[in-house]
Amino acid sequence: MSQKILNPDYRLLEQIEAQGPFQAAACFQCRKCTNGCPVTFAMDLYPDDVIRLVILGQQETVLGCRTIWVCAACETCTTRCPNDVKIAELMDCLKEMAVQEGVPSPQPQILTLHETFLNNIKKRGRVYETTLLPAYLLKSGKLLEMWNSGTWRYDLKLGRQMFSKGRLPLRPQSIKGKKEVRKILTRRKQG
Ligand code: SF4
Ligand code: SF4
Repeated sequence: MSQKILNPDYRLLEQIEAQGPFQAAACFQCRKCTNGCPVTFAMDLYPDDVIRLVILGQQETVLGCRTIWVCAACETCTTRCPNDVKIAELMDCLKEMAVQEGVPSPQPQILTLHETFLNNIKKRGRVYETTLLPAYLLKSGKLLEMWNSGTWRYDLKLGRQMFSKGRLPLRPQSIKGKKEVRKILTRRKQG
């Protein structure tokens, strides 16, 4: 069996920790994070693998993996970790690094949702649900798919139910610190 030689490069860990701290170096590979994660079935690397590969500086592998995009940010892993490693937050950081480095996402629709979500927040400092989904459906090409398959009827019904329960407000609301939020997100774009 051929084995790939792995060359550790600890600069990635330093670069990532400077944006945290996430305390990744404290990981002792107990796998409690992975065992509690609800979406491992859709991952190509387990959460503890991601931590290990970050420590070993395998940038190409971690930035190109599906795991960072399917992570639901539920924070179960962070809560379960006995060493206080901020795994969920680290996943987010890796996602952002992948965007900044121009690494193509193996899950392009999740990347589209990520970008649509951040653009939506940029306007008012908080998400405006009423325009978020239509913007995503248009940008991702899902609208056409839904139209052709007829599933739009189900989503329309769901939308009406949400509207009647006040979950899709007609008037968007802003927060006081929206300029600061915009500044953070603009800085992100400029890298
Ligand atoms: S739970 Fe924490 S210490 Fe255990 S493998 Fe996951 S990150 Fe490492
Ligand atoms: S935050 Fe992500 S990696 Fe952690 S348990 Fe939830 S889905 Fe899994």
